[in-house]
Amino acid sequence: MTPSQARNAIKKCLKALVDPKPTKDEKDCIWAYFGNGCAYCGSSLTKKSREGHIDHLYSEMKRGSNRLSNLVLACETCNGDEKRESSWENFLVEKCGAGTDIFEERADKIRRWILQNGNQPLISETQEEMLASEFACINQVLTEKIERLREMYKPSSGCNR
Ligand SMILES: [Zn+2]
Repeated sequence: MTPSQARNAIKKCLKALVDPKPTKDEKDCIWAYFGNGCAYCGSSLTKKSREGHIDHLYSEMKRGSNRLSNLVLACETCNGDEKRESSWENFLVEKCGAGTDIFEERADKIRRWILQNGNQPLISETQEEMLASEFACINQVLTEKIERLREMYKPSSGCNR
């Protein structure tokens, strides 16, 4: 493992403490609420075939959390790249057409899900700052130790013949 891989692993580890991934029970809860269907396009999904994905309404890049209020069930296609840039509502418009009954129905279902699970789909700025400062602290020590070891065990130039 390289130092930068180690740094990423530490970041992930700290993040998982503050914002743990959903448990199996929580995943079951998501499947049940969305009736084994994709929250966006409605296609039916089965657990066994691994067709269903737990999708973030707000991506992790946009401070989306792993709380239930940010997680829905989605098919492979909807979970894939195509949603990444747009908001879930815009994505749903693409899937259902603006103002259609099916759009209203699915958007409503998602909104109720967000509300009934605490209405906090995002990681707070405070949490994000705390994570950043804890990481900075660890990283400083790690960097010092890596430098020290590198200095101590510098390979000698060339082989001795
Ligand atoms: Zn879908």
